[in-house]
Amino acid sequence: MQYQDRIHLLQRELMGAYFRELTEAADGNGKPAMYMLVGSNLAELAWAMDMIPVYPEMNALQLAIKKASLPYLLKAEELGYSMDNCGYVKADMGLWFSGRQTPFARIPPPALLLCNYSGCNTFLNWFEHLREYSGARIFILDIPFPRIDGERRLHDHAYVRGQLEELVELCEGITGRRLDLERLGMHLAIAQEMGEVWRRLLELERNSPAPFDAHFDAVTLTAPFNSLRGREESLLYAREVLREMEARSASKTGPLAEERFRYVADAPPPYPYLRTFRNLFSRWGAVAVASTYANFSRAWEMGFEHDPKRPLESLAAFLTFEHQANAAHLKRRREVIVRAARERRADAVVIHSVKSCRLFSTGQADMREYLVKEVGLPTLMVESDLEDPRYFSEAQIRNRVDAFFEALEHRRIIGG
Ligand code: SF4
Repeated sequence: MQYQDRIHLLQRELMGAYFRELTEAADGNGKPAMYMLVGSNLAELAWAMDMIPVYPEMNALQLAIKKASLPYLLKAEELGYSMDNCGYVKADMGLWFSGRQTPFARIPPPALLLCNYSGCNTFLNWFEHLREYSGARIFILDIPFPRIDGERRLHDHAYVRGQLEELVELCEGITGRRLDLERLGMHLAIAQEMGEVWRRLLELERNSPAPFDAHFDAVTLTAPFNSLRGREESLLYAREVLREMEARSASKTGPLAEERFRYVADAPPPYPYLRTFRNLFSRWGAVAVASTYANFSRAWEMGFEHDPKRPLESLAAFLTFEHQANAAHLKRRREVIVRAARERRADAVVIHSVKSCRLFSTGQADMREYLVKEVGLPTLMVESDLEDPRYFSEAQIRNRVDAFFEALEHRRIIGG
């Protein structure tokens, strides 16, 4: 498809340049590496401190997409990591003990391990293991969970703001340079504009046909939004994506020749079989119009705005009140799915239950019950894994997908 070729090419150039920076850093000619987690990452702080962000999750994801994850998983299992451990962690551990060489880059060792989210306890263990193996400094940023009453408490914000000050001091010690607040503000302003672009892109998904697949295309589209947020070249890319999608929307062009079904996708896809999995839906004319996973931050969708003049306060507010992963508790996830399904006129919900990710998979069966029985949204649940190709059974998943869409079609014919 034309737009996919062009936008994917732009995306590849941008990510390729980043991977070259990683390799330079690994070869000792680049910036000190700040490892961090993707969800609500602090890339803007890394750029402002002349450090390079490294995302172990993204490295694992890239290995899976390139069908290269299995040897790293096996390496980790040889070392004693169990079959049941998170696939991302195992791929990363295998990578660590294979010279940090991937098909796309050499990964630099960490100068700092920033565990910017502690809600999934696997993250804590993961970064502690990396500390053990690398000997690098570690900083655990403790972000309070959103309160059940939804109230935004100022002392939570102050608590996170205080930790950011300590983190800045640590970065200054590592790099030997002071943080320039104005520069941080400039990166936040760029991030803000990228967020606005993303919000407008999602708005386009209300149209029929949707101009892009909000799950499968978004996985590619959002990589620079997620990991290279706050950089000038990423903003140029974001504007280009928006221009392209607006043009497609105006000409009523979608990712498939015919959009027959619209659905909301929950959880990450099986990366080792991304194309195969996508085709199971495409052959039914099914397009994802929303995704709980491939959305680089819901903050922008909900109207969050950075204040570049007060960058540390603004970052603290972003982390405290809008933390993507923290805000993904079951009740909110259900609300997000139902709201997206209504706003974008979805026919169904598709849940991918990820074997090795407890954070995403916990409660999915209950959520399915709720969506079907309480909301009346036909919901399909399929199981495999985001990293481990051994858990993907094409025939089994195809049977479930086909039966589901046959039933949806039947329901449509009889006017249900
Ligand atoms: S269990 Fe899930 S959320 Fe936690 S580290 Fe693994 S993939 Fe990420």
